[in-house]
Amino acid sequence: MVSMEEQRNAEWARLRGRLRAEFGDGVFRSWLQPLTLISVENNKVVLGVPTRFVRDRVVALYGSRLRELWREEDNEVGQINFVIDANLAGRKPSVVAPPEPDPPEFDLDGWAEGVSSPLDQRLSFENFVVGNPNEFAFAACMRAVENETPAYNPLFLYGGVGLGKTHLMHSTAAALQAKYPKKRVLYLTAEKFLYQFIRALRAQETVPFKELFRSVDVLLVDDIQFLCGRDATQEEFFHTFNALVEQGRQVIVSADASPSDIEGMEDRLKSRLGWGLVVELSPTNYELRFAILEKKAKEKGLELDPRVLEFVAQRIATNVRELEGALNRLVAHSQLSGRSITLDSAQSALRDLLRASERRVSIEEIQKQVAEHFNIRLADMSSPRRARAVARPRQVAMYLAKHLTSRSLPEIGRRFGGRDHTTVMHAIRKIEELSSGDAVLSEDIRLIRRSLEN
Ligand code: ADP
Ligand code: MG
Repeated sequence: MVSMEEQRNAEWARLRGRLRAEFGDGVFRSWLQPLTLISVENNKVVLGVPTRFVRDRVVALYGSRLRELWREEDNEVGQINFVIDANLAGRKPSVVAPPEPDPPEFDLDGWAEGVSSPLDQRLSFENFVVGNPNEFAFAACMRAVENETPAYNPLFLYGGVGLGKTHLMHSTAAALQAKYPKKRVLYLTAEKFLYQFIRALRAQETVPFKELFRSVDVLLVDDIQFLCGRDATQEEFFHTFNALVEQGRQVIVSADASPSDIEGMEDRLKSRLGWGLVVELSPTNYELRFAILEKKAKEKGLELDPRVLEFVAQRIATNVRELEGALNRLVAHSQLSGRSITLDSAQSALRDLLRASERRVSIEEIQKQVAEHFNIRLADMSSPRRARAVARPRQVAMYLAKHLTSRSLPEIGRRFGGRDHTTVMHAIRKIEELSSGDAVLSEDIRLIRRSLEN
């Protein structure tokens, strides 16, 4: 028969195995291996720890998980107590107490596991093509790596989708880690921060959560706009942020808009985020797109006719991600057909992408441009007012929304103050009818179109 003690020891061994698997070898060796099982009595587990230091750390960072795991072994267990025992719970019946072990080294790999987002090695500074629209952001990131003490804190990068924010964040994190191996560099998306925070709240581990985030040397948080409307998480981020900046630790964040333009973000956080250096990644221009295509084509071993590069750089004018998509398409085409890409074959291979790229104008932009052009208030685009002076521009905007976006009529109607799709249809017909006979109106439309397409 298995004795109670043997059973306990087997449970403890299993549990240690799971802790090692969950937290990784590094953490396990530093913090969890030194624990010994002293007793399990009256549903109370007593563990021995070598030092107070180890105990505090274990309680803070792994305590609740330890308890959870133990309950899975034995759901009667209610409490885990730690006793400090330099003899390691008397298992070594030596007369002379062994010397206190040195405090374990902080294990970075184990520490960052599960909290950080993985870094993609391809997103390096070397692979980043610098041009007018992004050179300032690039320089600021390089500077953050060069200077040991932060020159700009926080560094705030913002710009539209696919313009290289994440790329620069990864490059910066990797370069910092390579240059200062002893520093704790933590890169994560705001989404992950939110997730970690909620998890910590649920597990009642906010203390270790705070401790962890406040112990980093460099914190990089990508896509901070993700925290909009998440009040508690914003609050937590705000405090983490303040604590780090006050201690002179570098904080780098990215967002899709400048601090003052992020909606749903607390004012004090917005203002705090703007205290350091705020740099924009501007929309790409032709030269940058050409250079990126050239470099990426070369990387893929694809010799492209400059006229093809020119064509793609001109026509896919949105962002770098779409540029890459187009290039991948061309690579696949040339591999499948076994022929090199000509201007014609590029045109046909990319037809749908080109169409999508051209239509990537938003209804909001249309409304804004039209309101500006006719000198009316933007709010009148969705107001119920029917005076000709506002109704006509509104109809023009609906007409353009139909032609320049892929939105359905009901969707367009909703964006214009919840109008019915028949109203939208009527507006489109009206403008078509009028503009064929009215030179002024058709010139208006041409001008607005042109400013939208730039
Ligand atoms: P964002 O985070 O701003 O949405 P990403 O950093 O994810 O954009 O960039 C989208 C894609 O374009 C990535 O594959 C990235 O490597 C690439 N990219 C963006 N800007 C550049 C650049 N200047 N040079 C090379 N690649 C770039
Ligand atoms: Mg990104």
